[in-house]
Amino acid sequence: MLSTPQIPPDIVLSGRLQALRARIEAAALASGRSTRDIRLLAVSKGQPVPQLRAALALGLTEFGENYVNEALPKIKALAGTAAQWHFIGRVQTNKTRHIATAFDWVHSIDRLAVAQRLADQRPVQIPPLNVCVQVGVIHEPGKAGCSVHSAAALMDAITALPTLRLRGLMCMLPFGASEVAQHEGFGRLRKLYDATRDRGLALDTLSMGMSDDLDSAVAEGSTLLRIGSALFGPRPAAAKPAATPVQ
Ligand SMILES: *Cc1c(COP(=O)(O)O)cnc(C)c1O
Repeated sequence: MLSTPQIPPDIVLSGRLQALRARIEAAALASGRSTRDIRLLAVSKGQPVPQLRAALALGLTEFGENYVNEALPKIKALAGTAAQWHFIGRVQTNKTRHIATAFDWVHSIDRLAVAQRLADQRPVQIPPLNVCVQVGVIHEPGKAGCSVHSAAALMDAITALPTLRLRGLMCMLPFGASEVAQHEGFGRLRKLYDATRDRGLALDTLSMGMSDDLDSAVAEGSTLLRIGSALFGPRPAAAKPAATPVQ
């Protein structure tokens, strides 16, 4: 019996990356934008270190992680490479020291207490921690993100913290949002971003769009897409911190 030929994982990844780039390009073209203005964050939660190495070899250098315990060994394993680390999960106050020390970015700041802790714990010898304020553009009870109305005050407070550098805004839409709702939600964040820049804050990052809604996000002005499954394939079923195999 012939066995099924195994395609090496890096070839699979390279194929997915090509398809993803084509999709981003088509979305950019359709809205008159340049792909140069759209960064790709490889969301590597649930993915083992060899997958991240394969991504690095393909030129991807920015990785997004949701769980501190899962991320720390990966960050250690890839020390000395070009990898940059973005924390995109919910910030638990008992984990802020690790985040402030090991990460380059945090996308998910939705209250001042968290910003203040990260600022206090960010070592002064390293560059400021890049941060985005996460906004709940479509209200869902219990979900992360500050309200659209409280975002301005939070951003202003962050600009006063010297160890943090405010870069922009982030949102995540409810799972399964319709295309109309996607445009509405992303459009709302874009409006807030433009209004904030108009009043003089030097934001350069609009972190919105994931595998299922990146097309709408690009159309609405996203400058940073956070892509997991469209790049790495479906996540291993138990992509939870404790159960994640770190290879
Ligand atoms: C998991 C995750 C992503 C990536 O999701 P995909 O649908 O796999 O692309 C992006 N942003 C956040 C905040 C996430 O938790």
